[in-house]
Amino acid sequence: MDIHTEPEPHHHERLWRPQTRLVRGGTRRSLHGETSEALYLNSGFVYDDAEQAEARFKGDQPGYVYSRYGNPTVTMFERRMALLEGTATGFAAGSGMAAVFAALMCQLRTGDHVVSSRALFGSCFYIVTQILPRYGIETTLVDGPDLDQWRAALRPETRCIFFETPSNPSLELIDIAAVSELAHEVGAKVVIDNVFSTPVLQRPLEWGADIVVYSGTKHIDGQGRCLGGVVLSDAAFRADHLEPFMRHTGPALSPFNAWVLLKGLETLDLRVARQCDSTEEIAEILLEQPAVGRVLYPGHGSHPQYRLAQRQMRRGGTVVSFDLAGGKDAAFKFMNALDLVDISNNLGDSKSLITHPATTTHRMLTPAERVSAGVTDGLVRLSVGLEDPEDLIEDLLQALGSLAC
Ligand SMILES: *Cc1c(COP(=O)(O)O)cnc(C)c1O
Repeated sequence: MDIHTEPEPHHHERLWRPQTRLVRGGTRRSLHGETSEALYLNSGFVYDDAEQAEARFKGDQPGYVYSRYGNPTVTMFERRMALLEGTATGFAAGSGMAAVFAALMCQLRTGDHVVSSRALFGSCFYIVTQILPRYGIETTLVDGPDLDQWRAALRPETRCIFFETPSNPSLELIDIAAVSELAHEVGAKVVIDNVFSTPVLQRPLEWGADIVVYSGTKHIDGQGRCLGGVVLSDAAFRADHLEPFMRHTGPALSPFNAWVLLKGLETLDLRVARQCDSTEEIAEILLEQPAVGRVLYPGHGSHPQYRLAQRQMRRGGTVVSFDLAGGKDAAFKFMNALDLVDISNNLGDSKSLITHPATTTHRMLTPAERVSAGVTDGLVRLSVGLEDPEDLIEDLLQALGSLAC
C-alpha cells in the first residue's frame, strides 16, 4: 500500500498535546508493525509496472519516486515537525543552513528586497549580506528590537524579512507580532530562524510569522550526532516555491539523519525543560560574580527585554552569554581553565559547550559589525547541557577564580 494514500493511523493527531506530538506525531508504521519509526535507508523506489512509473512522474498517483524528492523516514520527520509547529507542511534539509538558504532563495528573484536583523548567526549573516546581493537582491539590515528601523526599511518591493529571536550570541529579542504586522502591511513574508527558542519555547506562527526554519543539529538532535534542518510553511508556499527548489537543487536530508532527529524529538521537551532549569540557576550565579560584566539571559529579570521574553517565550532558553572584564585575554583564560564544559561552537547539546564568538562563529564580521551585533571581545556564549548543574557551577566558579591569579 502506498504510504501517502494509507488512511491516517491517527486522524486526530492534531488534537494531541505537544508532548504527545513529539513522541508520536507523523509516525507511519510499515506492514511489520514496528514500535519505533522505520529507517528507510534507500535512494530510489521501484514501480509495479511502467504505467505506474509514468503516473508517479506525472503526479497523477501519489507515492515516492526518489529520496531527493521524498523518503518515508524523512516524511515522518517533516510531519512531526509541521504538527509541532502548527504548519500544514514541512520540507527537510541536510543542515540548518541549507534550510535557511532554501527558505529565502526559493521565493526571491532579482529586484526583490529583503530586510533582516543585524544580529544573526554568522552563516545567516553571510547569506543575507554576501550571497543575496550577488543575484541583484538588495538587503537592508536593522537593529531588530527597534521597530522604527523596521518601519523605515520596509518598502513595496520588500519580498520577505528574516530574523532570529533570541539572536546568537547576544540573546537580543525581536517582537515577532509587531514586526510581522509591519511586514504584512507591505506584503512581505516573515521568515523566522527559531533555533535558539526551539519549537518547545516559542511558536512564531502564533505571533504572525509565515515560515519557520530550524537547524535540527541543535536541540532537536541535541546529542551531537548529525546535521539536519527543516523549513515549515503552509501548503501554498511549499507547492509554489519550496518544493520545486528543494527537488531540483537537492539539499535533501539523509533518511538516517531524519531517523536520528525523530528519536531526538521524543525527548526534546524533557531535555529543554531540564536545560532551562540549569541555565536559570547558572545565570543567577553569574550575576553575582565580580569578574563577570553583563549577563545576557532572556529568562532573568535583568534582561532589557524581559517583558517581551515573558510574553513571547515560554522560558528563557538554554543559552546564557556573558562578558568577562578583561576582553579576549580573560575570555580565553577562563575558557582554557574550564574542566567540564567543552570549548565548541555547537549549542543545544546535552554536553555543556562554551564559545568565544568574536574569534569563531562571528570572526567574518568586521569589528564595527561585531559591535553592532553585540559581540564584544570579552563575550562568551555558554550552551547549558544536561550535566548536574552543581558540577557545572563548580566548574564555572573555579575557572572564574583562575582569572584573579
Ligand atoms: C546552527 C544554526 C544555524 C545553522 O544550522 P546548521 O545545522 O549548523 O547548518 C542556523 N541558525 C542558527 C540560529 C543556528 O544556531
